[in-house]
Amino acid sequence: MNNKRSSLLFQQAKNLIPGGVNSPVRAFKSVGSDPLFIKKASGCTIYDEDDNAFIDYVGSWGPMIVGHCHPDIVAAVNRAMEDGASFGAPTEREIILAEMVIDAVPSIEMVRMVSSGTEATMSAIRLARGYTGRDNILKFSGCYHGHADALLVKAGSGAATFGVPDSPGVPADFAKHTLTAEYNSLESVKTLVANNKDSIACIIVEPVAGNMGTVPPCEGFLEGLREICTNEGIVLIFDEVMSGFRVSYGGAQELYGVTPDMTTLGKIIGGGLPVGAFGGKREIMEKLSPSGGVYQAGTLSGNPLAMSAGIATLNILKQPGFYQALEEKSRLVAEGIAKSAKQAGYPIYSTRVGSMFCAFFTKSEVRDWTSAAACDTKAFAKYFMGMLDEGVYLAPSQFETAFVSAAHTEADIERTITAAARCFKQIV
Ligand SMILES: *Cc1c(COP(=O)(O)O)cnc(C)c1O
Repeated sequence: MNNKRSSLLFQQAKNLIPGGVNSPVRAFKSVGSDPLFIKKASGCTIYDEDDNAFIDYVGSWGPMIVGHCHPDIVAAVNRAMEDGASFGAPTEREIILAEMVIDAVPSIEMVRMVSSGTEATMSAIRLARGYTGRDNILKFSGCYHGHADALLVKAGSGAATFGVPDSPGVPADFAKHTLTAEYNSLESVKTLVANNKDSIACIIVEPVAGNMGTVPPCEGFLEGLREICTNEGIVLIFDEVMSGFRVSYGGAQELYGVTPDMTTLGKIIGGGLPVGAFGGKREIMEKLSPSGGVYQAGTLSGNPLAMSAGIATLNILKQPGFYQALEEKSRLVAEGIAKSAKQAGYPIYSTRVGSMFCAFFTKSEVRDWTSAAACDTKAFAKYFMGMLDEGVYLAPSQFETAFVSAAHTEADIERTITAAARCFKQIV
């Protein structure tokens, strides 16, 4: 594969931008390679600066559920641009998207827009603390909730890959209010709750973990969290920045029938533009400034371009049969890859929820961070490089989720499975 221009650009970027990238995992470090610079994309295909084409399973890390450059979204953003990029004043588009989000997500009665998932979780936690008057928060090992100080504790993917679960620059004093439990272990939650009676403001969880590979919740796990939070006066926050509008229109809470008190969103609701949101019970949300005292603000919050991209995206997702079709394609590709591995004598542990899937390079079940971290990341790196050569663009880390979009065709999926079969044969 010719990657001359990508290499040249990476050399330039490294002088100007730390590590040459604006977000760590993009650097391909954990697969021991240099990143490709992307020129453009269309549907499920991305093109690098050397004009190589790839079937894309990264989808900008989740947002591109309808594929790249969907004509409805391009048109909506162009229209909004002509009206003006930003005013810092309320606009009707914010009401339209807020109403769509409230209609879709069971737990959300009111919603506040922000500009990233990080901002959404950070603000949701501040609000949960303000509402309960408690300081501690409980998160799960391997779950990622953005890069706010208190949340960079055992945070999966990026942080895990680089072996800095506690980043330098985070004062111990800021992290000391963060308690960490094991994903899928209600026992570990119960112990922490009992030892920190009446001091936990919120439990924040990815209802489908997507930042340590894809790890579905075990039966009863989310229900158990709901029960503990209700009994203990703890605010239950589902971080659906990834799973929201992804695993179903109403997110994981709709899929599993468990309603949290608050929800954070991002990725898909921005249609590829920078958006996050947090919402929940009216009683909690009304504590937010200016109706309440918990402060939160943003110059570009509710940005017209971002709102228009979000509205256009949700309008596509609402069409009848959208999620069934996506489910069927995702099943084909995830099962196809697992079967290829098995036939090559390299059984993997395959997980999938809707259009999120992961091939873990291990023979044992993956249900939490400890079992995910036991994967053969060297073998994964070989597989990743092999797939790239075959024209398939996967996330450059074992601990990430693959995303299928509505733009992937059966032919793309066939090609992906055939490519995987050849790659697995090479690594056994
Ligand atoms: C991506 C992600 C975030 C962070 O969102 P950014 O927009 O990258 O700040 C938070 N939580 C989850 C579950 C995510 O997947």
